[in-house]
Amino acid sequence: MDIERKVKQTLAKIKLSKKEKILVALSGGKDSSVCAYLLKKLGYKIEGIHINLHMGLCKNLGIKLHLYDIKKELGASMCYLRTSILSSHNTGKRLKNCAICGVIKKWILNKKARELKASKLATGHSLDDEAQTFLINIFKGSPELSANAGPISRNVKDNDKKFVPRIKPLFFVPENEIRKFSKSKKLPVVYEKCPCALDSYRIQVREFVNTLSDREKENIMKNFERFMEKMKKETDANVKYCKICGEPARNEICKRCELMRIK
Ligand code: AMP
Ligand code: ZN
Repeated sequence: MDIERKVKQTLAKIKLSKKEKILVALSGGKDSSVCAYLLKKLGYKIEGIHINLHMGLCKNLGIKLHLYDIKKELGASMCYLRTSILSSHNTGKRLKNCAICGVIKKWILNKKARELKASKLATGHSLDDEAQTFLINIFKGSPELSANAGPISRNVKDNDKKFVPRIKPLFFVPENEIRKFSKSKKLPVVYEKCPCALDSYRIQVREFVNTLSDREKENIMKNFERFMEKMKKETDANVKYCKICGEPARNEICKRCELMRIK
């Protein structure tokens, strides 16, 4: 099946409407660029947002683009934030660069999507990303961490006014198909990985996932969907707001504020 049909099927599955305003989180890489390209081609109402992490430049795709300058808004570059977080959390709990960056990016994207009145936030996560994450959670003995994953976030917070549901139109598309598609359309993207991605465990799992066929990757996610059916009932209905920043949170304090808190 070609990439466009796969994406169409995924969007039909999550019942995405062409009337909603969708904000696409653009990193400058191929995945999120292909995601924006296809959503636009399929007739969805999209705008883009790019968080300038001050780690390098990314190009505008030619749609309305909202820029978020992390230095201006949070007072420091991502590299600086990460270094200071790492040095103030010597709790023995090993924090990963990508985990820190991910928490801060999610916090920013949800807040901005809400302010821009978008009804969904789209990211470029691919079948490979999702298979890696699902396997990592299983290998680490915490499959329940996958409970909110899927082509649309299944959080109870989806009904919450402060939480913008996240969608992953490329959820069922393997990375090599995205790369081929992106090259065939000559999209102006950056093909390098983030220079700060030093999560060696994910790199190891990525190498393993790279040895699998697309069919095997699809099978991993089919198992995931079956597993999700069982997990659905178990998410609690408790919506909390962070006591520090007011954003939606699982606990009293959101993950971003927990990280940024000086210990
Ligand atoms: P990553 O966590 O880097 O694998 O990125 C996952 C998804 O998050 C990408 O496909 C993008 O949709 C989004 N994303 C990553 N970095 C940025 C950024 N600097 N600005 C906006 N969105 C981003
Ligand atoms: Zn907070």
